[in-house]
Amino acid sequence: MEYCLGIESTADDFSVGIASFEGEILANIIDAFISETGGIHPREAAQHHSQVAGKVLAEAFKKAKIKPKEIKVVAFSQGPGLGPCLRTGATVARALASYLGVPLVGVNHCVAHIEIGKLITGAKDPVTLYVSGGNTIVSAFDAGRYRVFGETLDIAVGNCLDVFARTAGLRQREGMPFGAIIEKLAEKGSRFVPLPYSVKGMDLSFSGLLTAAIELLKREEYSLEDIAFSLQETVFAMLTEVTERALAHTEKKEVLLTGGVAANKRLQEMLRRIAEEHNARFCVVPKQYALDNGAMIAWTGVLAYKHGQTVPIERSFVKLRWRLDEVDVPWVKE
Ligand code: AMP
Ligand code: MG
Repeated sequence: MEYCLGIESTADDFSVGIASFEGEILANIIDAFISETGGIHPREAAQHHSQVAGKVLAEAFKKAKIKPKEIKVVAFSQGPGLGPCLRTGATVARALASYLGVPLVGVNHCVAHIEIGKLITGAKDPVTLYVSGGNTIVSAFDAGRYRVFGETLDIAVGNCLDVFARTAGLRQREGMPFGAIIEKLAEKGSRFVPLPYSVKGMDLSFSGLLTAAIELLKREEYSLEDIAFSLQETVFAMLTEVTERALAHTEKKEVLLTGGVAANKRLQEMLRRIAEEHNARFCVVPKQYALDNGAMIAWTGVLAYKHGQTVPIERSFVKLRWRLDEVDVPWVKE
């Protein structure tokens, strides 16, 4: 058997995954950095990554029950992401690849989210809604690449939920990210308070909406539950509208939901409904493969390696703003 080891470190998570060339995931160890204040300070997160790297690598090998010398290729998240975090993961990957004497593959983080989603759910050619702390993208494959049909013009939807929660004085815990806390609160809300609904063409904007929600909070006229409910209804309706339009335009037969925000049941429900209306299958990626994870980098590393996409160490710079639609994906057939 041949294996690829993948390292993910674009933001707050450091993760190592191991995938076989046939698409079996043998390990997927994730260590999340949780800061006191709730935000992600790039340097602090990078420090966390370098502190846990050795431990996470050892755990991954133990879980996969393989030896380091059985690794045929090392892949890492080359971008997009936070500079210090990306560089820490890249350094670990370069050291490992040169020690083992195997090729290095630089993987685009957004492509990886789509590829692991397809592997795990069996989706072949979906319209993908990728929603996380740092990204909000509606995409589908066309002519050699994953094209971006719609995206955020400012902050990511996960970031919008996180900043709202932090401003409301909530505290995230292990296993309970801000988005999940908002989801729980929203379930108890019932009164819908209108917030700015900002879809511009196929793109989305969340920052004005976030400011408006924070203003509502300060006015103390509505309960936190009602504002959380209204915030969720508004942002998820925006995401659903853009995804539906991409689906109607492309006439694809699958909708794939991924990223950390994909865990949200209300968002899942809205997307399932539009998928059904368009006779498309709705696929949601399970949490451990929807969050930032090393398995997705390992699996995409396999696909890229099989198509000759390796990178010499001296040219393996990280790419902070590497867009999804800049990447050729020769392994996807028309
Ligand atoms: P990621 O960037 O993929 O690691 O995902 C992290 C983001 O997912 C953060 O913005 C979280 O607040 C968000 N998130 C996690 N669970 C949920 C949930 N149940 N509902 C909404 N957002 C969530
Ligand atoms: Mg994360």
